[in-house]
Amino acid sequence: MNKIPYKIYVEEKDMPKAWLNLKAYMKEQHDPFLNPATLKPCTADELRPVFCDAVVEQELNCTDKLIEIPEGIREFYFMYRPSPLCRAYFLEKALDTPAHIYYKFEGNNTSGSHKLNSAIAQVYYAKQQGITSLTTETGAGQWGTALSMACAFYGVDLKVYMVKVSSQQKPYRKEVMRTYGAQVIPSPSDTTQVGRKILEEFPETGGSLGCAISEAVEVAVSTPNCRYVLGSVLDHVLLHQSVIGLESKVALDKYGVKPDIVIGCCGGGSNFGGLIAPFMAERLEGKTNTRFIGVEPASCPSLTRGKYAYDFCDTGKMTPLARMYTLGSGFMPSPNHAGGLRYHGMSPIISKLYHDGYIEAKSVEQSKVFDAATLFARTEGTFPAPESSHAIRAAIDEALKCKESGESKNILFGLTGTGYFDMAAYMAYNDGKMNDYIPTDADLVPGFNSLPDIEQNR
Ligand SMILES: *Cc1c(COP(=O)(O)O)cnc(C)c1O
Repeated sequence: MNKIPYKIYVEEKDMPKAWLNLKAYMKEQHDPFLNPATLKPCTADELRPVFCDAVVEQELNCTDKLIEIPEGIREFYFMYRPSPLCRAYFLEKALDTPAHIYYKFEGNNTSGSHKLNSAIAQVYYAKQQGITSLTTETGAGQWGTALSMACAFYGVDLKVYMVKVSSQQKPYRKEVMRTYGAQVIPSPSDTTQVGRKILEEFPETGGSLGCAISEAVEVAVSTPNCRYVLGSVLDHVLLHQSVIGLESKVALDKYGVKPDIVIGCCGGGSNFGGLIAPFMAERLEGKTNTRFIGVEPASCPSLTRGKYAYDFCDTGKMTPLARMYTLGSGFMPSPNHAGGLRYHGMSPIISKLYHDGYIEAKSVEQSKVFDAATLFARTEGTFPAPESSHAIRAAIDEALKCKESGESKNILFGLTGTGYFDMAAYMAYNDGKMNDYIPTDADLVPGFNSLPDIEQNR
């Protein structure tokens, strides 16, 4: 067999024509979303005022294994996809490991991350439905940027609630979004009821994703012809992100490579869910024994230290209740440098697969993540996002285990984005000023106390 190239190309004609709906492969579904008022499973009718119709249908679809990607979305995908699937030869050499390391790099578009994959789909469906404006939240800014690009492309207005600490750390992000035509508002803000309430209670807060979600949802439900779009967590976002895994599989199949371990960083779980989709489907069908590792920051450890409980997806308690691994919607994470991973909960699909033993989870400290990021940048050349570097850390650790045992495993990890907008983080690391804050058990108590006191949680 030919030597595996540094970068495996996938031709346009071989790119996925349908997304993979992992739920259709799962033996048991995750618990249903609940309406917080009635505590009954949410119906499509209850979700439609918040989300677009097509997206609601996808959210509730547990039966179709494949869902066609509309041509209008594929056309946009062709502009920046396929994303590169690389063999990390130089990293392998630096580690002196017998492991074969592959990574799928999603940072090759202007938004700098995988989030564009779902942004373009969601705006396409909104436009089709005649929606004229959208609202959203953004943490580190990648989702807001991706959505701004998508809204500019399809001609839809956009209001972005940006977590305040991120908007201060990343003023240039804001300008990218404004250039694409979005209005950017630091959250919590005084433009919504929920924002004003949070500001009253915590005037000094740097904000959180959950809180920005609440503001965006409030505006969506109170503005005519406006909808809310979410960049992670929900099932339809994982569905759109399956393009990452499907493309990876096409590339690896060209060389007959089967991954033994698939690794991704976990914020809300969308890139990880998308990357693992086709490989997890095979495992659920009993065809493989692939291991899956989700990696999260030690400062926001929803999988590794959270509770599997019904919780609100947002701080303002406006969204449906989802059963997931969560630190509680009242959990206020410390302002660490992986903004995209500062979310209190976790995708219900990922949570269920983790609960049922199909996924392993691991949490890592910030400075160890940046050690890995630095080694990766110096060997492979690409400048990684702090979020993505959680996956790099775990991939390196697995490769080092292979070195000890002498086993040659195939490791695939998701490199979700570039770190160009994370200079404050790299500066702190390079100056030796990065702290590895890990919440104590006592620190987690207020978040757990914020879990809804309902029968399902007792
Ligand atoms: C948003 C983001 C993440 C985390 O989000 P998921 O939904 O867990 O994928 C990871 N990496 C980057 C670069 C991001 O922008």
